[in-house]
Amino acid sequence: MNIVVCVKQVPDPETPPSSFKIDSVANRVMPAAGVPPVISPFDEHAVEAALRIKDAKGAKVTVISMGKDLVMDVVKKPLSMGADELILLQDEAFEGGDSFTTAYALSMAIKKTGQYDLILCGRQAADWDVGQVGLGIAELLGIPSVAPVKKVEALDGRVKVERVVPDGYEVIEVPMPAVVTISNELGEPRYATMKGIMAAARKKPTVWTSQDIGAEASKIGKAGSRIKLLKLFIPVREVKCVMAEGESIEEAAADLALKMRAAKII
Ligand SMILES: Cc1cc2nc3c(=O)[nH]c(=O)nc-3n(C[C@H](O)[C@H](O)[C@H](O)COP(=O)(O)OP(=O)(O)OC[C@H]3O[C@@H](n4cnc5c(N)ncnc54)[C@H](O)[C@@H]3O)c2cc1C
Repeated sequence: MNIVVCVKQVPDPETPPSSFKIDSVANRVMPAAGVPPVISPFDEHAVEAALRIKDAKGAKVTVISMGKDLVMDVVKKPLSMGADELILLQDEAFEGGDSFTTAYALSMAIKKTGQYDLILCGRQAADWDVGQVGLGIAELLGIPSVAPVKKVEALDGRVKVERVVPDGYEVIEVPMPAVVTISNELGEPRYATMKGIMAAARKKPTVWTSQDIGAEASKIGKAGSRIKLLKLFIPVREVKCVMAEGESIEEAAADLALKMRAAKII
């Protein structure tokens, strides 16, 4: 069984707000000085889901990551957890893309891997939180998808999942190949072992460019992007405090009601 896990490197979501800076002219987030990037947390859960299937049934787990300035120690983390192969999509032509171009490039890379039974993604990436790439990959490959999921089990030619819904979960079976996006309810991802870290350090990732995956230039990067980012800014929140006054609680409550009415809150 061949499992592909899509893993994105993102700025650390635990970055202190004071270090979060944007370049509002270039409309981009500036990397926080001294805070290394991480694998998007839901993607670590997706790696864990793949490894649980590998433990139970045996499987080859291939990780694909597309990005700029990828930090090797970061993107190699799935290998140190137990994944078998790492493919990096690196090319200037991929830059400036959106959910569609990301899904397109990943789907082309997945096709190039040859055989794929199950594709696992995070439910959403921790930086832009769009939650579209996994479903986009399924659409482009013409295969079923289920999102967001807390348990995945591989059966013969089918995958059985527990899909998270507001008041519990649904049990769904879909034929493979399929895309499943993984949520944190799956449970804690495993730690990398020392042996795994050393093996990962020795493994060389495969690097593919847009040409290697046969991507059409008009469907990747800026050229293929369907989202136009008009303005990126940090919202300014103003907090004003007005005290309710009165000799008694009743008077203060009446004063509060009048002030709320004047402010058109009630
Ligand atoms: C408003 C806006 C502004 C943007 N600005 C910038 C910008 O300034 N600079 C910039 O570089 N990009 C920018 N992007 C693009 C953005 O980084 C994403 O590539 C794209 O929008 C996909 O959305 P997402 O990352 O939230 O993915 P989601 O759809 O939330 O991701 C779901 C899952 O898909 C997989 N996945 C997603 N991306 C990758 C990847 N690259 N490699 C492997 N797996 C992946 C992961 O499994 C992930 O958990 C912007 C997007 C938006 C919507």
